Amino acid sequence: MKRRTVLAGSLAALAATSIPYRRLLAVNPAPDAGAEIAAAGLDGRTLSLKSTDIAELRAALRGDLLTAGQPGYDAARRLWNPAFDRHPALIARCLGAGDVRHAVSFAAAHGLLTAVRAGGHSFAGQSGCDGGLVIDLSAMRAVEVDPMKKEARVEAGALLGNFDREAQAFGLATTAGVVADTGVAGLTLGGGMGRLGRRFGLSCDNLSAVELVTADGRWLRASAYENADLFWGLRGGGGNFGVATLLIYRLHELGQVYGGALVYPYAADARQLLRRLADAIASAPDELYVGIDCDTGEHGERLVELDVCYSGPLQQAERVIAPLRRIGKPVKDELAAQSYVKLQGSADTPGVSPDAIYLKGGLVEGLKPALIDAVVDYIDNNPSDSYDIGFQPVGGAIGRVAPHATAYFGRAASHDMYIMGIWKVPGKGAERNIAWVREGWKHLEPLTRGHYVNTAGETHERENRARVAYGDNYARLAALKKRYDPTNLFRLNFNISPA
Ligand SMILES: Cc1cc2nc3c(=O)[nH]c(=O)nc-3n(C[C@H](O)[C@H](O)[C@H](O)COP(=O)(O)OP(=O)(O)OC[C@H]3O[C@@H](n4cnc5c(N)ncnc54)[C@H](O)[C@@H]3O)c2cc1C
Repeated sequence: MKRRTVLAGSLAALAATSIPYRRLLAVNPAPDAGAEIAAAGLDGRTLSLKSTDIAELRAALRGDLLTAGQPGYDAARRLWNPAFDRHPALIARCLGAGDVRHAVSFAAAHGLLTAVRAGGHSFAGQSGCDGGLVIDLSAMRAVEVDPMKKEARVEAGALLGNFDREAQAFGLATTAGVVADTGVAGLTLGGGMGRLGRRFGLSCDNLSAVELVTADGRWLRASAYENADLFWGLRGGGGNFGVATLLIYRLHELGQVYGGALVYPYAADARQLLRRLADAIASAPDELYVGIDCDTGEHGERLVELDVCYSGPLQQAERVIAPLRRIGKPVKDELAAQSYVKLQGSADTPGVSPDAIYLKGGLVEGLKPALIDAVVDYIDNNPSDSYDIGFQPVGGAIGRVAPHATAYFGRAASHDMYIMGIWKVPGKGAERNIAWVREGWKHLEPLTRGHYVNTAGETHERENRARVAYGDNYARLAALKKRYDPTNLFRLNFNISPA
């Protein structure tokens, strides 16, 4: 209860809707039985939905429409990050674009607070809401690969693991994130960084088309040839412009990779270790990905964990990776040739994570000495038993795309840096960990240049942070938003205000 209070205070999106909705729901606990159910409107108004209108939506959908108390409701409302315990009024479990059209039209007609859920991995809990409608795509997981065209048609509820497995069955792949149970749609629409990103670009750089339902209930296809302006905005603009139902990707040939975990103790010489690491990766080829986490292990021990993937010719792997093995004395070296699917699945926590997470993030241009000093000084002077300060590599092919070519703007970055506080739920760690992250961010944020919307964290200062994330692209995005979502129906995201 205490944790909920802390979070509600810190995340403004919760504050506007949760209290009035809960009071009304208590008066009318069996929504379908009575004439009306209480729901949260856009801008925090409380609405009454007629049970006849709900019945009409239920009859129109191929999938289920769940309300509180129904079998399956509780499992369906849960998000990956248990820091967020949302209770929507309605969950539309869509089975296709037709269901999405009905759900969007219902939400727009009633002015209903609306969340869109694909893999449910939003760090900021944005794919759920209190009192509104969740458009849940998690039953739409089909992946179809055309090996002749080297193309994949991926339904918007698919997880990265679904996509990787089907593509690899044909010796193909494209950039995806590093945890296989993350959703393809949320990740790609915000950008999409991963083990192949330096070689093939962001996930969104590999899109050739997106099918979506816009706020007025229209179904559209966006590509370089149709609705090209919208296609520009969808590549990095997050969920601002509609509900994507299908994403079409270009694929690349990919055989076995060489990689895994290489772990060093975070000891008294952490500063030197990180400097040697920075030197070792400064001129890494595009085929080499080295994720870095200064974090705590299973027993609270402090570590520097490297997540390595070399996707170039296997016979060169040992030579390319050798400098990483020379920076210190590892406590774990699991680097080996293996299938890409196996490596991609190595960090899964399927379903709901046992740990709650509070995160902030921003882009950095090089692991410079001042940045390493700031990280080490903060860790050394602010003990925490469960944290992660990490760096996900970008650059390479990602940096060779012009910042104005897609909505994703931060092309000059070398890494996406994030700082996380982690605590068990149920437990009392929220307040302490949130404070630890916020204090750390005061030291780290001045060393960042922009954010990556999928890892930027809390969104209560969202307009300002969205402007920072989208830089010179913001004005064009705001104009697009006005055209495709003038009432800001899709606002539970890194929100762009309609111009
Ligand atoms: C464990 C973990 C590992 C991660 N690793 C990486 C990584 O390696 N690389 C990386 O780039 N990111 C990574 N992320 C961040 C990730 O990209 C975001 O959390 C992303 O939002 C997850 O997508 P999802 O579909 O699971 O999200 P959801 O929580 O389902 O959705 C998040 C948001 O995306 C939007 N959205 C989702 N689906 C749609 C849709 N079909 N149409 C319109 N809008 C939609 C909505 O605004 C929604 O609020 C990671 C996150 C976690 C929790």
